[in-house]
Amino acid sequence: MRSLLHKLPTIIKIFFIVLIGGLVSKGVDYLFEEREPEVRNIIYMIGDGMGIAHISAAQIGGDYSPLHLERAHAVGLCKTYSANNRITDSAAAGTALATGYKTNNGMIGVTPDGIAHPSIREKAEKAGMATGVIATYPVTNATPAAFVAHVDNRHKEDEIATYYLSNQLDIFFGGGSKRFDQRADSLNLLDTLRQRGYTVAYTLDELENISEGKVALLPTEGSMPSELEGRGSFLPQATSKALEILTNNAKDDGFFIMVEGSQIDGKAHGHDLQAMLAEIYDFDSAVAIAFDYADTHPGTLVVVTADHETGGLTIVNGNRTFDLHDHQVDYAWTTGGHTGGMVPLFAYGTGAEHFSGVMENTDVPKIMCRLLGLDEE
Ligand SMILES: [Zn+2]
Repeated sequence: MRSLLHKLPTIIKIFFIVLIGGLVSKGVDYLFEEREPEVRNIIYMIGDGMGIAHISAAQIGGDYSPLHLERAHAVGLCKTYSANNRITDSAAAGTALATGYKTNNGMIGVTPDGIAHPSIREKAEKAGMATGVIATYPVTNATPAAFVAHVDNRHKEDEIATYYLSNQLDIFFGGGSKRFDQRADSLNLLDTLRQRGYTVAYTLDELENISEGKVALLPTEGSMPSELEGRGSFLPQATSKALEILTNNAKDDGFFIMVEGSQIDGKAHGHDLQAMLAEIYDFDSAVAIAFDYADTHPGTLVVVTADHETGGLTIVNGNRTFDLHDHQVDYAWTTGGHTGGMVPLFAYGTGAEHFSGVMENTDVPKIMCRLLGLDEE
């Protein structure tokens, strides 16, 4: 064999070396791609107040036909405590989920020492990605605010609104127009947005022929109606429209969007099970839009989680006995406020496998930043 190799002309030896080298390097590339797929787009979905019992109640309400979020490729659990309390509020939890820093309840985008930390959305915007937020409460409310603003008190909503001008979101859809045009300082921020090239719309229908550019959609002065009060399919439709616009605006740079199921929390505070379930089914319809988008757009990661649990919901036997073969259950609420239990996380699409296990809520944006190649701090 050895002597045979010696007899081959040098040119043929070189040919084989190049061929084998090429195959090996191609194989290494292929293996690497399989292990670390590139995440280009992130759809971050937050069900405000959505604990495991809320999701279980939605499963029971639908007679166990699977929810869309059950399609998730990976499931994890997040610890929700804030910097100053075992029980977080939406401001501190939103800040943790947006910036990767725990803070005191009530604070938005700043640590207890008052230092502002950029949210993952701000980092994505700075890196040239298209970005946006969607909520059905005002866009100045705690959860969307944590992705946009930096204030020491969540109730400074006029001030939070000004951050929608100092940032350059591609889209923001939600309630709360009065914080933009009925302000204590008499400024009309909607006029300023228009001067800066934003389309300012009040209904989704107005956006029918708009598929790119900067868009502020603010259908209501305050919160949008609840699902049972007739909000209809606003959240899934808004999610679909936002993904269309962000896809076109992003070009080669990818996008980041936060979509909040805002009103699950409020209905759980009020112990209104049917209204809360309607909010979860609506949010789950938006999850389906996001998962379907990820199916057709490789490189898209969807993460669905909650900021905390609301109401201390438990599901107990309605018969008070385990003997009867009967589907009756009772729902017991144990508090009018939030609770300190872990919340579930569902990940789908490219990079989903990085989100299994038990996490701090602050880990979620850090992992996302790592996958996008953004600064984790
Ligand atoms: Zn709440």
